[in-house]
Amino acid sequence: MSLSRTYLDYNATAPLRPAAREAVLNALDAFGNASSVHAEGRGARSVIERARKEVAALVSTDARNVAFTSGATEALNWALSAPWKKVLLSAVEHPAVIAPGERSSARTVFIPVDANGLVDLERFAELLRDQVGEDSEQDGALVAVQLANNETGVVQPIAEIARLVHGYGAKLLVDAVQAAGRVNIDVAALGSDYLVLSSHKMGGPTGAGALVLGSAADNELKPLIVGGGQERNKRAGTESVAALAGFGAAAIAAQDDLSRVNDFAALRDELEARLTAATPALAVIARSAPRLCNTSLVALEGASSETTVIALDLNGVAASAGSACSSGKTARSPVLAAMGVSPDMAKCAVRFSLGWATDQKDIAACDVAWRRVMKSRGGERQVA
Ligand code: PLP
Repeated sequence: MSLSRTYLDYNATAPLRPAAREAVLNALDAFGNASSVHAEGRGARSVIERARKEVAALVSTDARNVAFTSGATEALNWALSAPWKKVLLSAVEHPAVIAPGERSSARTVFIPVDANGLVDLERFAELLRDQVGEDSEQDGALVAVQLANNETGVVQPIAEIARLVHGYGAKLLVDAVQAAGRVNIDVAALGSDYLVLSSHKMGGPTGAGALVLGSAADNELKPLIVGGGQERNKRAGTESVAALAGFGAAAIAAQDDLSRVNDFAALRDELEARLTAATPALAVIARSAPRLCNTSLVALEGASSETTVIALDLNGVAASAGSACSSGKTARSPVLAAMGVSPDMAKCAVRFSLGWATDQKDIAACDVAWRRVMKSRGGERQVA
């Protein structure tokens, strides 16, 4: 990280890890087409199959359950593209789940969340009973609940959710994009039928992701992209060997990060304590909920996210407005709306997300920038 910048936006994308960079550069020389039978082709194939094993190890599954895609968005679109009769989506899902869910021909139903953004298991069980019923056909209903939220970091009780879902014969899609390397992921223990990962969120390159099938999943899920026999006829198109090599290296490093979860949480807590000391009226959203070790969503009523994020940037800190920013603009966050956060508060939410290269200096630099930004607002903010 450049000395003059403090990058605290890992949930948007993580900086490329050194090991991933090295793997990408090495793989760029493996120029063969992985479908070719000659030595060059076999070389490229072996790079891909190694990456598959590395990604599989991150989620404690067998390599044959991992199908590579261009990213999480494609993998989510793929899982939702099957002819589901009904799709139940948690109200705090990422747009990459909501949009394909709503576009599918299935009836879409939203699963409500509580004030912390958690699926309430009792209400969810009732919803399943009403919407799916006891005699659901095996491939009739798909439930999508993320493992961790990209804005708040809140972690859902997926194993309990999976038991309920399977009790009604439905399938479970788990967006684990933000959880990788921050929560131990074991596909069998979670009970996911489809689990989705993204390379660039864990310090690999962009352009790679995976759909991981659970043991009971419908292995007959039809390809979303056709026109070639790659990925064992599941996903057509010549593989991006370098991107996948980087994904594999990032998966190994993400697994190593699990031993640093307490360190990340300590940095996150220190950041929250420092910002609260500077501006005592600061709210930490979902503070009491099970949260990712790296994510902090804060809001100071009256200090709009957009202005704060721009001012932080000018002071050397990269953070995010928390809500959907893919267009570069901030819209009102559907996640915070589903949690019942007031619109006035929601429009002031700022997300800080830490990662593999974050250290104490970043936290101190963010504190200094925050105080400067809040002070410069012409007395509008009380800075302690
Ligand atoms: N799901 C979650 C929770 C995300 O945060 C993101 C990215 O912001 C995605 C899915 C989409 O991932 P990708 O950029 O790999 O398509």
